[in-house]
Amino acid sequence: MVAPVYSLIVPIFNEEETLPALYERVVRVMDALDGESELLLVNDGSRDGSLALLRQLQSRDPRVCYLSLARNFGHQIAVTAGLNFARGQAAVILDADLQDPPELIPDLIRRWREGYQVVYAQRTKRKREGWFKKLTAYAFYRLLRRLADVDIPADTGDFCLMDRQVIDLLNAMPERNRYIRGLRSWVGFRQTAVYFEREPRYAGEVKYTFRKSFRLAVNSLVSFSIVPLRLSTYLGLFSALMALGMVGLVFYWRLYQPASRLTGLAAVVVAILFLGSVQLVCIGILGEYIGRIYEEVKGRPLYTVAEAAGFES
Ligand code: UDP
Ligand code: MG
Repeated sequence: MVAPVYSLIVPIFNEEETLPALYERVVRVMDALDGESELLLVNDGSRDGSLALLRQLQSRDPRVCYLSLARNFGHQIAVTAGLNFARGQAAVILDADLQDPPELIPDLIRRWREGYQVVYAQRTKRKREGWFKKLTAYAFYRLLRRLADVDIPADTGDFCLMDRQVIDLLNAMPERNRYIRGLRSWVGFRQTAVYFEREPRYAGEVKYTFRKSFRLAVNSLVSFSIVPLRLSTYLGLFSALMALGMVGLVFYWRLYQPASRLTGLAAVVVAILFLGSVQLVCIGILGEYIGRIYEEVKGRPLYTVAEAAGFES
């Protein structure tokens, strides 16, 4: 097989129900592309029959290659592994659940041919997702845009096309907390959007539990902004102002209101609780950053590969 022009990277975590449909739709798109392509499936420690399906697909179709991570490392790391192994001149990242329509790939490629190094798919609509998910996602993307030092477009997921130049840069980044959307924006170059409506999940359960989504959100904020660190300064200033105000009040009461109103134990308790919680929150925020420094310093590999096939040529 000649070196592929396109690598289609799909992270897979317990997706046996969607894999056959995914393969069919993606292959139809691959057949119509203007160059050779490989379908790079990354098994992120699935506990269902996904791996067996990957082996089957790979033995049937030489364009399929797969990577099986030794355990579940999470979506962002699975995509990173895919980017490490991709051989194409451009890589497209898409979800296994067909929420990112493969039929959009030719549009992404068209923009790439026009000279854009990153073409990201921006959703104009999410179909049939819960109001909670929609609301939190909406709020999160706006918050991130306010706080982050790089301009990360709102409502874009990992569904995108990246040029070889960008892939090599991402591969050379050693950091462990990988928020790919952020890193992709960070590299710069010419970037553009293609719009699409996000379909509902094809089958199976959502693999991004609330906990995983929350971790991703915290990760992205901490990786791309130091504003939370400054929060303690602001809170400190705020409580110092309040304390000053209190001092003035105490003097006033002592001088002009002989029957002192400073009687309540409650006031003292509230003040202690307020300061205590401010301090704990600030230590917690510090902890988020220090924990990440610790992670980085350990310098462990990002993932371990248990099995790979289809990369021989
Ligand atoms: N996924 C993964 N590892 C995980 C969780 C999810 O590789 O730990 C994959 C999953 O198989 C899918 C993609 O990431 O291809 C997106 O997951 P999902 O559709 O559940 O989340 P959504 O982004 O739709 O909320
Ligand atoms: Mg999904």
